[in-house]
Amino acid sequence: MSLEKIKTLIIGSGPAGYTAAIYASRADLKPVLYTGLEPGGQLTTTTEVDNFPGYPDGIDGPKMMVELQQQAERFGTEVRIGMVTNVELNKNVGGVHMVTVDNNKKIEAETIIISTGATAKYLGLPSEEKLKGGGVSACAVCDGFFYKGQDVAIVGGGDTAAEEATYLSNICSKVTMLVRKDKMRASKAMQHRVNSRDNINVMYHSEIQEVLGDSVLEGVRVFNNQTSKVLDIKVTGLFIAIGHKPNTEIFKGQLDMDDAGYIITEGKTTHTNFPGVFASGDVQDKDYRQAVTAAGTGCMAALDAERYLAGLE
Ligand code: NDP
Repeated sequence: MSLEKIKTLIIGSGPAGYTAAIYASRADLKPVLYTGLEPGGQLTTTTEVDNFPGYPDGIDGPKMMVELQQQAERFGTEVRIGMVTNVELNKNVGGVHMVTVDNNKKIEAETIIISTGATAKYLGLPSEEKLKGGGVSACAVCDGFFYKGQDVAIVGGGDTAAEEATYLSNICSKVTMLVRKDKMRASKAMQHRVNSRDNINVMYHSEIQEVLGDSVLEGVRVFNNQTSKVLDIKVTGLFIAIGHKPNTEIFKGQLDMDDAGYIITEGKTTHTNFPGVFASGDVQDKDYRQAVTAAGTGCMAALDAERYLAGLE
């Protein structure tokens, strides 16, 4: 196996990774960025991005990611397609971290910026898969606006589902919230907010059996697990809000993480519990999860890496 030495290795190619790359390359850290399996990250699965500052007419998600990549490359970031498959982090200040890419390439990195993101969980139905981008979305804040004045449904009973149902109720005519148990897991305050909206109808004991429609969503077939009754509900938008999974598998046993597997960073910095290893974006943030907040923490990670390296000199 060949061994390469890198000053700053960035893992992940969403808004956090590319923003870290822009800042790191401008600071002459000569970053190498590995894209992972989904170059561009979660934004490549969305259509229009209307809430990123600086785009008054909105921008296509995949296009925005290509432009972020080009911006990072303009300052010298080397973007490589590849998957980091193993890491051996070093606890010593100034120590190098060993990284394996695609199971066959070894890298020694002085600093690592982890921006591997999180993956939205889906129900796993083939009919749901078919209509992703055709009415099925995992982000109400990103896509809710497209369903202005229409009837939509949301699945889940956690804080995300409750928050997104409330958000959607401001935009859409009617929101049907499908909760599989007899109660929500969301905090009492969030539940109260949901229940105070006239246009949110919460259906308990309700599971989606089938997502209806050929190329665009037409409705959902809902199974009541208490009565065994099946009901078709007409909706043009379906939001899946059943949680996210942070992409942190390869760091388990080394980096400090919370119960859900999100990387823990120190205070308001991007420092992890290993010197020279920083985390930015959704991999360390389960609360905000926006492109702009991910980009913000990507910038912070690059600045933290730069300061860390300067401190070693
Ligand atoms: P959670 O894991 O808390 O909730 C997931 C919800 O989805 C649960 O109601 C669960 O049901 C349901 N669910 C899971 N799988 C399925 C399935 N296959 N079919 C139907 N329903 C399913 O995830 P969240 O994203 O809501 O929250 C993650 C974390 O982020 C939490 O700690 C939350 O508190 C936090 N958060 C905080 C916010 C805030 O403070 N403003 C906003 C958003 C999130 P069941 O209960 O039956 O398991």
